[in-house]
Parts: sequence; structure tokens; C-alpha cells
Amino acid sequence: MKRQRVAVLGSTGSIGANTLDVIRRHPARFEVFALTAATQVDTLLEQCAAFQPQLAVMANEAAGRELARKIEGRGWPTKVLWGARALEDVASHEQVDTVMAAIVGAAGLASCLAAARAGKRLLLANKEALVVGGELFLAAVEKGGAQLLPIDSEHSAIFQSLPEDPSTWPARVEKIILTASGGPFRTRDPKSLRDVTPEEAVAHPNWVMGRKISVDSATMMNKALEVIEARYLFGLAPERLEVVIHPQSVIHSMVQYHDKSVVAQLGTPDMRVPIAYGLAWPDRVESGAQALDFHKLADMTFEAMDSRGHPERFPGLALAWQALRAPAGTTAVLNAANEVAVEAFLARRIRFDGIHAVNLATLSAVAASNPATLDDLLDLDARARAAATAQVARLQA
Ligand code: NAD
Ligand code: MG
Repeated sequence: MKRQRVAVLGSTGSIGANTLDVIRRHPARFEVFALTAATQVDTLLEQCAAFQPQLAVMANEAAGRELARKIEGRGWPTKVLWGARALEDVASHEQVDTVMAAIVGAAGLASCLAAARAGKRLLLANKEALVVGGELFLAAVEKGGAQLLPIDSEHSAIFQSLPEDPSTWPARVEKIILTASGGPFRTRDPKSLRDVTPEEAVAHPNWVMGRKISVDSATMMNKALEVIEARYLFGLAPERLEVVIHPQSVIHSMVQYHDKSVVAQLGTPDMRVPIAYGLAWPDRVESGAQALDFHKLADMTFEAMDSRGHPERFPGLALAWQALRAPAGTTAVLNAANEVAVEAFLARRIRFDGIHAVNLATLSAVAASNPATLDDLLDLDARARAAATAQVARLQA
């Protein structure tokens, strides 16, 4: 078997570190060709020591030069690059077979598109890239002959529960049911949500994740982004996508067929499972995760949720369907607003309930009009960020 050469984009993050943990278990199958990070020089240095990649990329010149200085003279094969263009070069490098897209936010879009156009096996954790890229992203995958495999646990579960041949999906599948843990505020009095702190919001009950996705889980904007992600990955109409709260996160999502049979994927909440599945697909390899112990599993419960959401507690969820029914590009506006709002919340510039306020106001301020190119999308993203930033300033005033 030829070893897969893997580029891990965003290797210092939560998904990146879990990916390296799985790769480390299978030296005969996988080889790390490139590692990339924003500014965490010392973490990337440690990863370079352990994996000896050919390339290491930092987001900016200062961080890049610092890493290069620290690597110099060690006799490693690693060449250091920096900047957004270097990320695209790594993602489309002729020696790379597989790209793990684990950058957070729209910042990962260009490198995802580069990997798609270059026909790579593209393991997509970076859901924002697909939410922003939409049909343009899918067209790049199609044209480049790339293999797009979901890493988000829900989408991996759905992919594992679907028939192998995608052309059969529309005729056989009645609906997709995404499970949601409900996050840290599932049972908290909605009236008290306006005052929650960043520390409370990032303390997820079942998963340890990066800060941005943790806040998204607390607002349920993560589930909204995942509904949009599912729409693009699986091609079902928005009304055939549903969300149910399942606090234990044992069932990772389900597919209901026309005969009312439901197929689900279960497991302990450990991202190494979907990561190992994406890396080895269609094979199965050791992931390092614990198996479910059905003798100890106390309970699996479900809480009804109108798929349009819990208007008081999780008002953001409904925005997914709203954005999917609006002109193409609206999902990119929603994503940009949310990235700006979450950052402002984490910096204590707006309250928790300000996130939804910024998202709503930005959706009504910025008209999306069918972006046809990456430049159109980046322009729309920039306009939405400017509008969201203005909303943040208004809330602070
Ligand atoms: P994280 O914040 O822990 O890591 C993000 C990584 O991206 C880091 O390596 C960081 O250095 C890099 N990065 C950030 N901004 C960058 C920029 N502008 N340019 C270049 N690199 C940049 O995030 P995470 O939790 O690992 O999530 C990564 C992606 O995976 C997100 O899109 C998230 O929604 C998705 N995801 C995460 C989980 C999880 O369990 N953590 C589960 C499902 C999906
Ligand atoms: Mg998920």
C-alpha cells in the first residue's frame, strides 16, 4: 500500500492535534507532508520535531521567520513558508494526497478551494469554508475530481449511514436528522443567557474544542452551520433536514429512509473516530477512541425541538433554513456576521445575546447576490464583516 501523504492545515488546533494523534498510530499508512498554524510557533515546532514534515507554514511573516530560526541547524527536512498563498500552495502541492482542512472560519476557504481544484482527498472539518463557498465549493470539487469527506461528527455519521452511491440518495432518503447536545445552556433559564461569560460559554459538556466552535455550540449557531453544511454535502432540500436534541452525544446523527427505517451511527464523543474514518475511508483503522460500553450507558434521551428552533433559548438555529432559502451567498453573510460577533463576545465587547442581534442585523443590512467567483465571495464576506463590525459598535455604544 502506498503511504498517503497528508497536509494538516490548522495542525495546532483541536482537530489538528487529534488528526496527528490518529496519524501517529499508523506510520505505514500515513506520512505528514505539511503542517500549518496561524501564530502558535512553539506548538508547531514541537509537531515538526515529532513528524519531520517537508513543509511548515505560518500565517504571517513574523511567525514564519521565528519558526524558521528555531528550526535552523537541527537537520530536519522542514522548509518554512508563510502567508495565505503558501497555504494554497501546500493544499494543492503535487506531492500531497490528502488535505485535512482544520483551519477555523472563512480563513480556510481559499486553501480548501485549492485542494478541491487539485483533486485531493479533502477531509473537511472547516465547516465555515463550505457554508461560505456553497455551490462554488462543490463545483470546484467536481471539476477538480476531488474526494470530499466530512469530518464534522454529525456529517461523518450521516455519510456512514447513507448508501455508498450518492446518486441514490435523493430517491431513497426521506430526511436527515442531525443530533445536537444542546450545549452548556440547554437547561439554563433563557432569561439569564444575556449575562453568560465567555468562560461559561466555552465549557462544553461533552466535547473539548476550539473557542469559536465552543461558543457556536452554546448559541446553537454551530448546528445552524451544520444544517447548511449538510445541505451542501448531501444535496437534500432544506425541509428534509431536521435537528433533535440528544444530550448524551452517543448518536452522532441519523438518516431516515422512505420506508421509515432509520439508520444511525453511534460512538463515544471522540473526534478521532470521524477523523480516522476520513483518513482511512473506505477502510477502518484504530482511532484511539474508547468503545461505547452499552452495559454502562445509563440513558439515551431526546428532546423535542421544532426544527425551526427554540426561539427563546436558541434563536440562531432558525437562521440556517432562512439563509438556505434566500439568494445564494446569504449563508456566507450569516457566517461572516457570526465570526465577527463571536470574536466580539470572546473579547467581552458584546453580551452573549448580542451575537444573535449582530447576525440578524447583518442579514438584513447586506444583500447577497449569487456570487460567481472566489473574488465575489471574498467581497461579500468583507462587506458582511464591515456591517457586522458596525453592529458590534452600535451595541457597545
Ligand atoms: P482551533 O481554534 O482549535 O484550531 C484552529 C486552527 O486553525 C489552529 O491551528 C490555528 O492556528 C489555525 N488558524 C486559525 N486562524 C487561522 C488563519 N487565519 N490562518 C491560518 N490558520 C489559522 O479550532 P478547532 O476546534 O480545531 O476547529 C477547526 C475547524 O473544525 C472549525 O471549522 C470547526 O468548526 C471544525 N470542527 C471542530 C470540531 C472539534 O471538535 N474541535 C468538531 C467539528 C468541526
Ligand atoms: Mg459537529
